[in-house]
Amino acid sequence: MKQLFLTTILAAGALIASACGGKSAGQTAAEPAAKETAAVLTDADSLYARVADQVAMGPRVPGTPGHERFIDYITRRLKAAGADVSVQDTMFAPVGSDVKAQRVRNITGRFNAGAPRHVLLLAHYDTRPWADQESDKALHNTPIDGANDGASGVAVLLEIARLMKQMPSDVEVEMLFVDAEDAGTYDDDFSWCIGSQAWADAFDPTARRVPEYAILLDMVGGRNAVFPREYFSERYARGVNNLVWEAARRAGYGDRFPNEIGGALNDDHIHIMRMGIPAIDIVESANSATGSFNPTWHTLDDTIDNIDRATLKMVGDVVINTIFQ
Ligand SMILES: [Zn+2]
Repeated sequence: MKQLFLTTILAAGALIASACGGKSAGQTAAEPAAKETAAVLTDADSLYARVADQVAMGPRVPGTPGHERFIDYITRRLKAAGADVSVQDTMFAPVGSDVKAQRVRNITGRFNAGAPRHVLLLAHYDTRPWADQESDKALHNTPIDGANDGASGVAVLLEIARLMKQMPSDVEVEMLFVDAEDAGTYDDDFSWCIGSQAWADAFDPTARRVPEYAILLDMVGGRNAVFPREYFSERYARGVNNLVWEAARRAGYGDRFPNEIGGALNDDHIHIMRMGIPAIDIVESANSATGSFNPTWHTLDDTIDNIDRATLKMVGDVVINTIFQ
């Protein structure tokens, strides 16, 4: 995932505005806020262990053994948690890009199908094949561990999956583990988020239930990470942002979820929004050292050693408090 520049923002803005025309992204903001946090919360050690599981598989680059291991792992974990698991396995080439058609496998785990409410949670599971943000060019072709960029968001979803049996059953929780997000080139916006583009391409609102809203988790395990509101999320799905940032404030995390605008990101939520689903991105995009992403972004330092279990727990609890209140 990458930061977008102004021309791209405007182009993407027009795209989203037309795709979402008439849809009320602010609908959920009118719901009264509950006063208390949820009784069931995430476990920091469990979250950390789920990141470690993924890193131990090796890089989860499409076409590698680590990627295959992940698909087996996520399928097994989701089924054990009681989810209905399905796989979108397709060849996909993004329109408007030079990227060739590639195999994409998006994994969905669904809980409480048919419940009165319905939310979509997503995270990408693939990892970047290159450490191209290393200062040493000799390292640029080395795949990264993706502990934060990839595994952290997946870990939060898996922890929520583990807790689903203890949760109220009135919310259908659809978890989407997105493939092929992170092999883009910086000059080609449609070379990123291939998995979510393939998902959106196959999305038929007349043939399936449309979630009320979607929350994307990306790079949610950084040390002392702060999560301002991502630009496109705030512009096109402010009501959902309001729910999340209010849940964070109530849980005592207001300083870590400041009511400020962060980066404008080309990330999976853009393609979910194009389907008319209000979608937001919880992502570290205003790091105090870099002004954008965590310093480990697309480097060989994106390792388990730089994962902060307290950050994972904070994000997990904020998402639970958002969904179940
Ligand atoms: Zn990335």
